[in-house]
Amino acid sequence: THFGFERVPLDAKQARVDDVFRSVAKRYDLMNDLMSGGLHRAWKSGLVSMLRPGRDRAFRHLDVAGGTGDIAFRTLDAGGPRTRVTVLDINEAMLRVGAERAGARYGGRIDFVTGNAEALPLPDSTFDAYTIAFGIRNVPRIEQALAEARRVLKPGGRFLCLEFSRVDLPGLDRIYDAYSFHVIPRLGARVAGDAESYRYLVESIRKFPTPGRFAGMIEAAGFSRVSHRPLSGGIVAIHSGWKI
Ligand code: SAM
Repeated sequence: THFGFERVPLDAKQARVDDVFRSVAKRYDLMNDLMSGGLHRAWKSGLVSMLRPGRDRAFRHLDVAGGTGDIAFRTLDAGGPRTRVTVLDINEAMLRVGAERAGARYGGRIDFVTGNAEALPLPDSTFDAYTIAFGIRNVPRIEQALAEARRVLKPGGRFLCLEFSRVDLPGLDRIYDAYSFHVIPRLGARVAGDAESYRYLVESIRKFPTPGRFAGMIEAAGFSRVSHRPLSGGIVAIHSGWKI
């Protein structure tokens, strides 16, 4: 069964997304490792290596749709005592897992905020970096989320997005399709007890704009020097833009 989300009103889409992540929060990290064969760790480290927080300077990083904290922890591990990360997510169940994982290790250098990427409860021109990893695909109004990203970034700040993309290696595409439509929902059923949520995941990857089109949307939101690069044969891509 396929969902046909394009016919569903945007608010219903968000409600569906919220159900998915409330349902999988506790098993989310395990599922990522199983479904990607651990690759998501390398992709996330690749994203954070582009940030260069530095050990000495003050660096404020906002990670939107930050879920259980994977991106935030990497920035804090790479940065220094003046690196601070705000993890924002619409889903408290995900943030709760993140806060538990963080424990007391980062002290006051991390905070968790419940909020919507489309209407960030944060002031203008505040952050040196905005990241969103495997999150923008879930947001119903992508243009609005991009406008909000630009608003909260300082001039000179960087936007980075890690997201599933289009496989562009001959041969890999067929393997990837078989994997997506057969293996992932089964894994979802067995490990998270929820095949529907993981079927939704596969559908939402198909519906996300191509890398070129998404780059155009980032430019249309007012970002400069927009670029993108595929990782792992295009399974995922990192898009980058600057607020000048
Ligand atoms: N960034 C984390 C990672 O890479 O492991 C989590 C990614 S998870 C696939 C997607 C996250 O997006 C979920 O935690 C979900 O609650 C969050 N999300 C969905 N819609 C959102 C919205 N409108 N605003 C903020 N977060 C949202």
